Amino acid sequence: MRIIIIGAVAAGTSAAAKARRNGESHEIVIYEKDTYISYSGCGMPYYLGGEVENGEELTPRNPEFFKSKYNVDVLTAHEVLSVDPGKQSLQVKNLVTGEVFEDHYDKLILATGAAAAVPPIPGRELAHVFTLRNINDMYRIRAYLDTKSPKQAVIVGTGFIGLELAENFVKQGMNVTLVEMLPQVTPGLDSDMADMVESHLEKKGVLVLTGSTVEEIREKDVRISQDREVKADLVILATGVRPNVALAKTMGVALGSTGAIAVNAHMETSLPGVYACGDCIEQFHVVTGKPVYRPLGSTANKTGRIAGHNATGGDLEFRGVLGTGIFRVFDLTVAQTGLSTTEAEKEGYEVSISHNIKPNKPEYMGGREMVIKSVADKKDGRLLGVQIVGEEGVDKRIDVFATLITFGAKVSDLVHLDLAYAPPFSTTKDPVLYTGMIQE
Ligand code: FAD
Repeated sequence: MRIIIIGAVAAGTSAAAKARRNGESHEIVIYEKDTYISYSGCGMPYYLGGEVENGEELTPRNPEFFKSKYNVDVLTAHEVLSVDPGKQSLQVKNLVTGEVFEDHYDKLILATGAAAAVPPIPGRELAHVFTLRNINDMYRIRAYLDTKSPKQAVIVGTGFIGLELAENFVKQGMNVTLVEMLPQVTPGLDSDMADMVESHLEKKGVLVLTGSTVEEIREKDVRISQDREVKADLVILATGVRPNVALAKTMGVALGSTGAIAVNAHMETSLPGVYACGDCIEQFHVVTGKPVYRPLGSTANKTGRIAGHNATGGDLEFRGVLGTGIFRVFDLTVAQTGLSTTEAEKEGYEVSISHNIKPNKPEYMGGREMVIKSVADKKDGRLLGVQIVGEEGVDKRIDVFATLITFGAKVSDLVHLDLAYAPPFSTTKDPVLYTGMIQE
């Protein structure tokens, strides 16, 4: 059987590795139009800030690695131009030589990912304006930092990528302005939790302009709504991503209501023998069961593995997402899982909310307070979502909450958890248990 995979970052390479583990006899080929493969895109902001010193640490694997370890052929700088599902054939262009050739498949896996969404702001084509999606983008920004030593950075968008970059640019000695269209930073968090993030950014010297849009980017500044002008010799557009679905569309693969590729729990698309995984697909939410688009590396790896398994005759099922996410911004860790209050109310839940402020460990061990906001269904006490902002120990608690929500826990269950305790790690009653006590 010949398996063709399109895209070689998180989802495509996970699919290939799993497909190979399932059998030695399959031919597995990945086409990737970029030059880097299987990289840690999530580490890119830390390379730009100097925390990761060598960019190559983010790209430890190359086609030779996949050939020798998995007997998988990865062809980089090869773009798949079109697919004919009737003939099970595809047209591929070698981007180095310009040669176009035909290949065929028995099973096809689309792992085409996502691309940075670029708003149509006049001036977006100027040389000091960048997006950060892949390793080549990262090196382009690095080269600009090294040759031009910019001092005034404007970052448009305050999702996790925008905020991670803000921290890293401040660490590089730049003045940073964040511009956000919405009335709060970190869309996705409830506004009371987002306020804490905004205050922290301001404390660290970042100028935060919410409720503002960039109207024009010029050589030395940007023009922002309400006739405001901010100096800028570096502009980053961190305004979200869009799934790469052009190829899927022309093949006749059905898209879902979010605009990403629709797949079932087996990662099968609407066309027989064609699977899809990673940032190009729509997922469903564990709490609501409804379609959502949450492009994350954690999910891309998982769905890639499922696609690779099922394309080789297996029967793995995807169980959905909670949109669990975490990021660091200066001294704060910000994390969320499940539904925010706004999302829960939009879904028609009558919610019960608690704010729980507790240290991650005893004061005598240097404990630092975190704020845990929990959202539960008033009707039956089912936990719907949690957001946490704090300095230490946030990562551990958010994963406990994600597990609880996944298995349908009620707030009354929390106090019964037998969580680990010793002074260097926690308090006798862990902050998770307190959350249950407050909600009771
Ligand atoms: P992609 O990484 O988009 O890869 C798809 C590949 O397909 C691309 O290389 C593209 O060139 C190729 N391709 C598309 N069309 C074709 C074609 N026609 N022919 C050939 N090749 C094609 N996620 C987290 O979970 N946690 C984090 O902390 C986190 N941090 C991030 C930080 C940054 C700065 C960025 C940019 C992303 C971050 N992510 C994070 C998201 C994570 O990187 C993505 O979810 C992940 O890369 C998705 O992998 P993918 O393989 O589905 O898609």
